[in-house]
Amino acid sequence: MITDRATLEDLLAGLLPDEAGRFGPYGGRFVPETLMAALTRLEDGIRDVFHSERFGHLLSAELVDWVGRPTALTRARTLGAEWGVELYLKREDLAHTGAHKINNAIGQALLARELGARRVVAETGAGQHGVAAAAACARVGVPCTVYMGAVDVQRQAPNVDRMRRLGAEVVAVETGDQTLRAAIDEAIRDWVSDPEGTYYMIGSAIGPHPYPYLVRELQAVIGREARAQMEGTVGLPDAVFACVGGGSNAIGLFHGFLDAPTVEIFGVEAGGRGEGLGEHAATVSRGRPGVLHGTYSRLLYDDDGQIQETHSVSAGLDYPGVGPEHAFLADIGRVTYFAVSDDEALDALDRCCRAEGILPALESAHALAGARRWARENPGARVLVGLSGRGDKDMPILTALGGRP
Ligand SMILES: *Cc1c(COP(=O)(O)O)cnc(C)c1O
Repeated sequence: MITDRATLEDLLAGLLPDEAGRFGPYGGRFVPETLMAALTRLEDGIRDVFHSERFGHLLSAELVDWVGRPTALTRARTLGAEWGVELYLKREDLAHTGAHKINNAIGQALLARELGARRVVAETGAGQHGVAAAAACARVGVPCTVYMGAVDVQRQAPNVDRMRRLGAEVVAVETGDQTLRAAIDEAIRDWVSDPEGTYYMIGSAIGPHPYPYLVRELQAVIGREARAQMEGTVGLPDAVFACVGGGSNAIGLFHGFLDAPTVEIFGVEAGGRGEGLGEHAATVSRGRPGVLHGTYSRLLYDDDGQIQETHSVSAGLDYPGVGPEHAFLADIGRVTYFAVSDDEALDALDRCCRAEGILPALESAHALAGARRWARENPGARVLVGLSGRGDKDMPILTALGGRP
C-alpha cells in the first residue's frame, strides 16, 4: 500500500493522459493515418463540448431521469457476516439496462449528437454494450449499427433481439475469430470509411486516445457517488474491489478512491479454468506489454506474438486486452490485480443470491470472489465491492451449468 502522500500525488499526476494520450508508457494512438483526423476531432469535441457546462447539465439530467442515478449503496449484512467483514455493494445492477455500461453509452450518444454525427457504430461481445448503445441512441435520436461476431450472435440471441427492438441494426461479423475482437475490427473499418459522419462508440476504457480517457470520465460517476455515499455515512472503505475486463467499471470506481492513501484497491480478473494459454483472461496480472485495438497496454499473446484466445465463464471479461490506465496503475503499485477462477466466481454468485437476494452478473461475481479471498486475511475490515451488473442475462449459462437448483 502507498502511504506517503507526496509520492502518491506524484504518481497520480501520471493519470491525466499527456498530449499523446499516455498513462506512463501505456496508451497512445496506434491507428492508421485515416483515423488520426477523426481522433483529433473527438479530442477537440471533448475539450469544447464534453467539458462545457451545458453538456454537463444535459448529461447529469439524463443520468438522473433516464439511467436512474445515483445507484444505491447497499450494506450486505449477511454476506459480510459470513466473510467476517463490513461489506458494501455499489449497485450498478440497478442502472437502466442492468449494468454500468449505460453510463458510457448515454454520454457518448449525447456527445455524438452534439458533434453532429449522422450515425453511431458500436461493437459488442456478449451484447451488453450493444444493448446499452442501442438504448442510448434511441433515446438521443441517432441511428445505431452494432457489429457482433457471428458466434456471439448465435450464443446471445436474446440480446440481438433486444438491440433490434431498440431500433439498432445488428451486423453479424463472419471474419476472424467471429467474436468480440473481430467485431471491434469491423466497427473500426466502418468508421474509417466515413470518419466525419460516423461516430464510433467504444464499449470499454480501451482503444486509441482519447477513448480510454473519455470512457473513464463517463464511468467516474460510479466512484464519485460511492465515495460520497460512504463518507456521508460510515467513512472510507479499507479496500475496494472491481472486476476487470476492458476495465471501464473498475476505472470508474477506482477513480473515486485513488487519492485516498489508506484505501487499498484491487482489480479482479477472470482466472477461468486454469493458468495455461487460452484458459483465462487475466490480462494485467498474467499478460505482457503490446498493442491491440490502437492502444499500448498489457495483452495476452503467445511467444510468436499471436493474440491468445481467452476463456472465462463470464462473456464480459473474455477479452485479451485491457485499458492502458490499468497497466499503469499496476506498474506504479497503486492497484493490485489478481485473478479468481470460474468456480470461485460461481460460488460467490451463489452466496450473494442466497444471502442478499441479489443475483449479480457473472462478471461482478469475480469482484465478490476477490473480496472474499482478501476478507479471509483481513477480518473486521470495511470493504466496498463494485457490483457492475445484474445476472439475469446469465441465466441460460447458469441453467446449463446446473448445480444448485
Ligand atoms: C461488460 C461488463 C463488464 C466488463 O467490462 P469492463 O469494461 O471491464 O467494466 C463487467 N461487468 C458487467 C456487468 C458487464 O456487462
